[in-house]
Amino acid sequence: MKSNVIVLFLLVVLVFAGCKGKQIQNNPNDYIEVSVKMANQISPEEEKLTQLLTRYPLPFNNEKGEANQIAERILQDKKSFLADLQEVLEKDTWDSLILADKKHFLSEDYEPADLVSLTQDLAKAHSYVINRNDLSLRIPVEKALQTMAEAAKAEGITLVVSSTYRTYSYQKMIYERNVAQMGKEAADRESAAPGTSQHQLGVAIDFGSITDEYAETKAGKWLASNASKYGFSLSFPKEYEAVTGYRRECWHYRYVGEKAIAFQEKWFNDIQQYMIEFIYAWRQ
Ligand SMILES: [Zn+2]
Repeated sequence: MKSNVIVLFLLVVLVFAGCKGKQIQNNPNDYIEVSVKMANQISPEEEKLTQLLTRYPLPFNNEKGEANQIAERILQDKKSFLADLQEVLEKDTWDSLILADKKHFLSEDYEPADLVSLTQDLAKAHSYVINRNDLSLRIPVEKALQTMAEAAKAEGITLVVSSTYRTYSYQKMIYERNVAQMGKEAADRESAAPGTSQHQLGVAIDFGSITDEYAETKAGKWLASNASKYGFSLSFPKEYEAVTGYRRECWHYRYVGEKAIAFQEKWFNDIQQYMIEFIYAWRQ
């Protein structure tokens, strides 16, 4: 008997709720109110973000197991993330935030149009030292390098630039030489196959000795704590080989700009690879 009463009660509740629902649907004003509310709540960008971050695989490398936490944090505060993303993309008028890694290849003829040669005179005037005479960088990167080198110099530290822009064919030559010398597996841990190097983008700089010992030098230490203030980001940090594809390179910095550095620090645990992979996916 008792259970019949409960069932009856539930039926009444359901019918009542159904009528309520119908009333909302039948009243055009309620309709408008509901759709205005929806429009305020979910923008197409938020929808796109949700789709990107709830799918598998995630739009950034997940091999370190950190990507899920990053995605969750972004999904909890989509509006603020999208506002930051918008600012970063607006700043990138010069198409610098391009993904080039072991899975994303640049074409053989990709060459930035705004390369400037780093001559001895220019380097001297801009407070850094060059290790060879065939170096070049994209103009905004050289400007940022100058600002950073002047700041370092003010603290008694000289930044030595050892490698910068590389053409596809030059990268091919280096890679093939490394493979011949150390075998493919070892070469792949520290040298990029043609088309996969950040150096081909004209935004990356190798400083000093290009060896692990550079981390212990004055300049290496100065860069580790100051480069980000000038928009330079360490591309291949320690313990991130599973994510970046490379063992630590304490000498290799990529210029992403100050806005993108702040964005990377705030949302991507300061890991450049996650941010650049996300931007790549977002732009698809
Ligand atoms: Zn490098």
